[in-house]
Amino acid sequence: MIYFVGAGPGDPELITVKGARILSRVQVVVYAGSLVNKELLDMCAPGTVIYNSAGMTLEEITDTMTEAHRAGKEVVRLHTGDPSLYGAIQEQMDILDRLSVPYTVIPGVSSFLAAAAAIPHELTLPGITQTVILTRMEGRTPMPERESIASLASHRATMCIFLSVHMLDKLTGALTDGGYPAETPAAVVEKASWPDERVITGTLADIAGKVHEAGIRRAAMIIVGDALKAGYRPSCLYDPGFTHGFRGDAN
Ligand code: SAH
Repeated sequence: MIYFVGAGPGDPELITVKGARILSRVQVVVYAGSLVNKELLDMCAPGTVIYNSAGMTLEEITDTMTEAHRAGKEVVRLHTGDPSLYGAIQEQMDILDRLSVPYTVIPGVSSFLAAAAAIPHELTLPGITQTVILTRMEGRTPMPERESIASLASHRATMCIFLSVHMLDKLTGALTDGGYPAETPAAVVEKASWPDERVITGTLADIAGKVHEAGIRRAAMIIVGDALKAGYRPSCLYDPGFTHGFRGDAN
């Protein structure tokens, strides 16, 4: 069995209990490059064969996992945050499907959640927004035309933007072009949940300058939206007039 495991955002205690249990018993681990905290590998049993996929091609990765599986071994493919977001696991799962190699996915704590915790702030506030958009700027991976930053910005929801801090000037321009006022709150969280985590807060007008000054170039989450404003209407959840029947909504 191949286990695609979400390593979480950095803090080794933020892997799931299930992910940790499986990581500590398999014979082969292929972990994804620099964003996975290597301290997690201390959980591995003695003798576990460990590969860093940073220097491997897709074929090398799937060949390594397939060979291990055929030799009767269990494999963890360790991805940062949650594997379903910008993790390129689909292409690996498609190849394993073709080879009839069984796999399963263990979810993880995504970095956008660790970033919200670091600020700390709720991303969905009654009366402000009940929607979170997860997206990125175009890089080597092209963006579908109908998902331009400006069109997504027109909703004025909370946006969590991955893989884009090095293009923050361009990003804030597109967000304001799309409809967020320049005074909309924005936060950049570098290395959320790591010991050297940094949180920079500001507005769309000044966040790029602050982040540039701080020298943040990578491993950072950008969160934008009025939800980050201090004042908001309290959630009905704790309103005494709100019946218990509605509390299920909180899940
Ligand atoms: N699957 C991962 C995302 C991988 S893409 C997840 O669910 O989090 C890599 C991007 O994720 C980085 O460019 C950065 O935007 C973000 N990222 C990953 N780890 C982070 C962390 N600890 N703090 C802030 N952003 C992080």
